[in-house]
Amino acid sequence: ASKPSIISIVACLMPEMGIGYNGKLPWRLKQEMAYFRQVTTGTFSSGAQNAVVMGRKTWESIPPKFRPLPGRVNIVVSRQHGEELAPTTFANSTVWLSDSLTRCLELLPERVSNLERIYVIGGGEIYAQTSILSDYMLITEVRPEDEANRPPMDTFLDPGIVHSRFERDFDNVKDFFPSQVVLPEEPQIHENGYCYEFALYKRR
Ligand code: NDP
Repeated sequence: ASKPSIISIVACLMPEMGIGYNGKLPWRLKQEMAYFRQVTTGTFSSGAQNAVVMGRKTWESIPPKFRPLPGRVNIVVSRQHGEELAPTTFANSTVWLSDSLTRCLELLPERVSNLERIYVIGGGEIYAQTSILSDYMLITEVRPEDEANRPPMDTFLDPGIVHSRFERDFDNVKDFFPSQVVLPEEPQIHENGYCYEFALYKRR
């Protein structure tokens, strides 16, 4: 099998690319969450699985009843973890712990069989380190409907780095997803005071 692609998936407030506030998401966007679930779970080949790699703080931001994320191989990185990559049992499911982001990305394809894609799901510290390792970024570009309602943010992507390393791909978005992923008819979604669209960026 070919090496799984590494894909960062993130929702950010444009243009400053804010992604979080006070350890949480700055918004509640149901259709965005449904897109995230479909994209990270869906596979082209039956019997394959994707991995979701996240920082310890993002793991802690997921309500306990929703973690680990079902149908995906969950990896949580923390410098407090004792091993490069080791499975553990959490809430009757397997969660992999790693003390090194780069090593876990190297080891995952060897340790987990039938791995299709590796999704990097945040947060800020993790995206900053994977911008040189990711093949693609899936960026949900979020804008407030009313400029007066920009939410406060304390965690960001670096827009300069994103735009210098990646370019937006307007053509191949549909083909990028397996058939389980249902994209909206209209490119822009309006929800909860925000307007957003799903964009694919590929490495330059
Ligand atoms: P992260 O989720 O990026 O986690 C940071 C932690 O990951 C560190 O404290 C450390 O854990 C561990 N870590 C970082 N680098 C490494 C490494 N190289 N090797 C091993 N462990 C490592 O935290 P952030 O605060 O940056 O981001 C969280 C924020 O992002 C929240 O507000 C969250 O809601 C938001 N978010 C937004 C998303 C979006 O799409 N808008 C998606 C995901 C999160 P330790 O301290 O234990 O050593």
